[in-house]
Amino acid sequence: MQKNDIIELKIEDMGVDGEGIGKYDGMTFFVKDAVLGDEIEARITKMKKNYGYARVEQILSPSKFRVTPQCELHRRCGGCQIQALDYEKQLEFKQNKVRGNLIRIGGFAPELIDRIMLPVVGMKEPYRYRNKAQFPIGADKDGNPVAGFYAARTHSIIPVNDCKLGVEENQIILNEVLSYMKEYHVASYDENTGKGLVRHVLIRYGFSTKELMVCVIINGNSLPKVEKLIDRLTAIDGMKSISINQNTKKTNVTKCIWGDPYITDMIHLRDTKDFSLTDTAVAYHISPQSFYQVNPVQTEKLYSLALDYAGLTGKETVWDLYCGIGTISLFLAQKAGKVYGVEIVPQAIEDAKNNAALNGINNAEFFVGKAEEVLPAFYEKKKDTDADMLHPDVIVVDPPRKGCDGVCLETMLKMQPERIVYVSCDSATLARDLKVLCEGGYELCKVRAVDQFGNTTHVECVIMMQYCGKEKK
Ligand code: SAH
Repeated sequence: MQKNDIIELKIEDMGVDGEGIGKYDGMTFFVKDAVLGDEIEARITKMKKNYGYARVEQILSPSKFRVTPQCELHRRCGGCQIQALDYEKQLEFKQNKVRGNLIRIGGFAPELIDRIMLPVVGMKEPYRYRNKAQFPIGADKDGNPVAGFYAARTHSIIPVNDCKLGVEENQIILNEVLSYMKEYHVASYDENTGKGLVRHVLIRYGFSTKELMVCVIINGNSLPKVEKLIDRLTAIDGMKSISINQNTKKTNVTKCIWGDPYITDMIHLRDTKDFSLTDTAVAYHISPQSFYQVNPVQTEKLYSLALDYAGLTGKETVWDLYCGIGTISLFLAQKAGKVYGVEIVPQAIEDAKNNAALNGINNAEFFVGKAEEVLPAFYEKKKDTDADMLHPDVIVVDPPRKGCDGVCLETMLKMQPERIVYVSCDSATLARDLKVLCEGGYELCKVRAVDQFGNTTHVECVIMMQYCGKEKK
């Protein structure tokens, strides 16, 4: 077998990146865009010793799990790896991905995982769920401004002003920006020459407040006839904030040019039995640069589970590591005695403090720094003084994909909280970290995945561990 050979494959499994997996003559082949259950004719694109890669040449018999994707550009864009797969099957894939990683990487017994892991929390509708979109601006072959996305591995833009994961308002806003650019001859930025002005348009939408924010990222200091753009955008219902981000070789500064420098959104507490809304909610100010979860509906479910797992009664001491703008911290603070949040980005901590004040929450304190530095420093310095926070009841962590730093985990074990709640966007690093915590005396009690990113292969997960005092070495 060699490159360019045509083979027949039945797709019997799916890889972690959503690719189809089939066997031919004892060899495993990974096939992008093939769906579980497909029978295909494939062209080999690369051969390794024990496996190979191939491309779909022809679908001989389509899988019964194939569905018609809402976006005809999904294969070229690459943002949605599994749009052609039935949503129920997508959820099954995500459930298995988390389960598999906990068993393979975490070393947990399959029987334990099957006993404690609840079914993945899915979305009602896996489209139009994102509250944030960033569209690059370029030019078509006639020089007209277009919005779109970069074709894989290139700097050329495929025009599209509607991403089916984003809200419908995105299109309306992009059309106004493009019409303004056309009318006043405002050039789009050209990656190759470094010339031109408009680089990107960032749009955020508050799902519960219906507030809209636009930030135009430019290669310069100002936009010509900017009042004309403002006129167009402020005619759109819900517009609350317009800013420009001066992004040149020398500067990177965001300036509000109309309205507030933020929009407000609410995160509601949901009942974790059926995920119905409760009356409890926290309001957040979101500025153009802030990190904020992109799927607000599923985030409410995820955070409600995290809060439930924390088991708070009103007097507990809690650390929230990797706290961002305090989203989880403020949720916890309503049910805890005291919450300490730690986050590496200073601006996010500013936002967290403002958000605490906005909600009248005064039992949350925030620290800027790396979790793996702030926590040990606190532990070493305050050993005899602040006993409450030194041995908290609960530690919550929500790290980026690479997971927790070893020093952070080590300090958590020294602090020995009653419970650890781990929110994760990468179940492989989650499993790796849980193994360390298990060896340090913790027992895995609860696991649940939440689908925040329908049509993609990503999945969020929340777990709870309890101290059982049996250190394993
Ligand atoms: N819990 C927040 C943010 C989660 S994203 C929310 O749900 O909104 C992960 C966060 O960890 C980001 O805000 C990132 O800036 C921060 N971060 C990354 N590395 C860090 C580190 N070493 N120490 C503390 N925070 C870190």
